[in-house]
Amino acid sequence: MSEASRLRAEFPLLAANPGLHYLDSAATAQIHRTALDAVAHHETHRRANVLRGSHRLAEAADQAFDSARRSVARFLNARSADEVIFTSGATAALNLVAQAFGATLQPGDRVLISLAEHHSNFVPWQMLRDRAGIALDILPVGVNGELDLAALPQLVTDRTRLIAVTQCSNVTGAWTDVAAIVAAARAVDARVLLDGAQAVQHGPQDVQALGVDFYAFSGHKAFAPNGIGVLWGRAGVLASMPPFLGGGGMIDEVTAEKSSWAEPPRRFEAGTPPIAQAVGLAAALDWMMALDWATIHAREARLCQQMIDGLQRIPGLRLLGPEASVRRAPIVSFDIAGLHPHDVCQVLDHHGLALRGGHHCAQPLLAALGVDTCSRASLALYNDEADVAACLDAVAAAVATLT
Ligand code: PMP
Repeated sequence: MSEASRLRAEFPLLAANPGLHYLDSAATAQIHRTALDAVAHHETHRRANVLRGSHRLAEAADQAFDSARRSVARFLNARSADEVIFTSGATAALNLVAQAFGATLQPGDRVLISLAEHHSNFVPWQMLRDRAGIALDILPVGVNGELDLAALPQLVTDRTRLIAVTQCSNVTGAWTDVAAIVAAARAVDARVLLDGAQAVQHGPQDVQALGVDFYAFSGHKAFAPNGIGVLWGRAGVLASMPPFLGGGGMIDEVTAEKSSWAEPPRRFEAGTPPIAQAVGLAAALDWMMALDWATIHAREARLCQQMIDGLQRIPGLRLLGPEASVRRAPIVSFDIAGLHPHDVCQVLDHHGLALRGGHHCAQPLLAALGVDTCSRASLALYNDEADVAACLDAVAAAVATLT
């Protein structure tokens, strides 16, 4: 049994569907058995609200929730678990920064994003611009969708307060040169927000080595449940931010006249948090931290190259994304002249393949690449050569059927 097949067997949905070639992990990765088991165990043994009760179930729930926060901190190599805020997902984490850090900005301050952002790291900043009178600058991309870092010196000014960019594009798979972004930000004392949504399923991260100030991701893209995500923030930066949502759990004291705030992370976790989901996320991240990532990365890179080489041979197909020299995650997007990706993906579905077709919530990037929509094959640690071969055969069949 190959290593990928062994890993595949640990994912209940994949194990139950041996004929399925799941190539849509960039949208949602499959949930690992250990995360499902952890959720079920929590719900059957420790279900209670957190931070509120003094009975023993509530204490057990508190401990599980705190322990989940420590697992996330280890996965991100954060200095302290107090820098980890649980949210409902990456979108909520990015909006939290736009709201709470955004509240510290003055009219005329500037935020810089890139044209390659997912809508969830685009729209909140446009909303902040329209609400707060800040200026929104946009780093352009080159012909293959890679960030045009040469434009940084003109776009980073002494009014730039934040640079918010993706760590890895959900369309092209290109990894961002984070060090270049951080250096440009530090030169003007700006903060850096990294959207790690596409990075986390490719291994543990190191926010200290990355040198950023905020890091956002979703559990469902890291083999964990839905409805849970994380905003990591540098302690001093979090402490300088007001809360975004008000409610239970985020206060120090409330009187009829006014309220004062709890310290981070509680300040940013109003209401009952997604407790079992956090426990499930921790189980998935603990499992990931024990894997041999050098081997997995080598396999992902090999499969990605096989996919690129095979697709390139199909007449009328245009690959979108970086040159071979650029480091990329195993995400391959393509456009077939005259065919809508929805039709392509429907034909692929009949062949047992799950791919995503559409605008991938990245319309500005797709416009820069000269397309409205495209098809996307995204691979994860449970994919193997058979998935790539099936995809190449089915895309060729789709082209033959539909043209
Ligand atoms: N950023 C990127 C790069 C993404 O790919 C996604 C999900 N497609 C998100 C943010 C938003 O994640 P979620 O929908 O889980 O909040």
